[in-house]
Amino acid sequence: MNIVVVGSMNMDVVNRVSHHPRPGETIKGKGTSYIPGGKGANQAVAAARAGASVQMVGAVGTDGFGKELIASIARDGIDTSKILQKEGTSGLAFITVNDEGENNIILSEGANGKVTPDDVRTALENANFDALLVQNEILLESSYEAIRVAHEKSAKVFYNPAPAHAVPKDILQLVDILVVNETEASVVLGKPLNTHTDYTDAAKELVTLGAKAVILTLGSSGSLYADHALTVHVPAFRVQAVDTTAAGDTFIGAFASVFFGENPMESLRFASAASAIAVTRSGAQTSIPEHGEIVEFLQSSVETLPHFERWESSHVDHD
Ligand code: ADP
Repeated sequence: MNIVVVGSMNMDVVNRVSHHPRPGETIKGKGTSYIPGGKGANQAVAAARAGASVQMVGAVGTDGFGKELIASIARDGIDTSKILQKEGTSGLAFITVNDEGENNIILSEGANGKVTPDDVRTALENANFDALLVQNEILLESSYEAIRVAHEKSAKVFYNPAPAHAVPKDILQLVDILVVNETEASVVLGKPLNTHTDYTDAAKELVTLGAKAVILTLGSSGSLYADHALTVHVPAFRVQAVDTTAAGDTFIGAFASVFFGENPMESLRFASAASAIAVTRSGAQTSIPEHGEIVEFLQSSVETLPHFERWESSHVDHD
């Protein structure tokens, strides 16, 4: 699978804490690490480690982090020749992870906010790819341009509208697989979602609105897949979560690297396994597993295989 990722590259500055500070509170951190991240780069790394041939389109700054960010994804075999350098800082993400593995994130977009729609069109028109992965951590107009060019080139479009933002109808209709978590689904649909019935209805509604298929990820409750023919719930593998940073990115990258547009079941299972491994480790790109590890995990997890079922009731049995 030849995948192009159009998106962000960040240096994640990660602090571990016992609990998240309240407004006005100062707390002592348990240590700081610098880990390359950004939804774009994370999804690129996830796809490359899962076995795809990956090219990254995006930008870094002229600060010290820029070269480091490029070198780090190059080590995963990702083609970095279309990454631009923009005057100023690289993207930075300040991440706080508590003892429960929950994270808070402040994004400073830096060079990511300087990737223009023209930059994207130029890069993609000269690239060969079967699938595009794109998110919302660059200018929305640049993400939309990526979707338009990929669609023109008949590549499969995977769109993860994160951080959450409403999606114009004409863009949604060019999307082959829309991947959203609960928050993103709620923002895209413009209404609160609380129950499992709400989630199933939301996945179906997003298909009705124009996406060919939708994956709604539900953290430790797994994920929902919906297309015009089918709605399926895929329970998560049961693991001890340490840090959920990049769970969704790992899921998307792994899914895109093995999904050829036919039966999604095996790809969903593969992506669930990849992201289950990722939540047992700290950091973003540091937590993303290789293809071999995912296969091994699946082989050793016979007892906890996700079961696939048609979604017929509002009750979800996760056991
Ligand atoms: P995001 O990081 O975008 O919010 P989610 O938290 O929904 O995404 O996680 C994406 C996928 O990762 C889930 O659908 C699930 O398969 C897996 N996952 C997330 N958290 C856990 C967990 N605690 N245990 C096992 N798998 C998990």
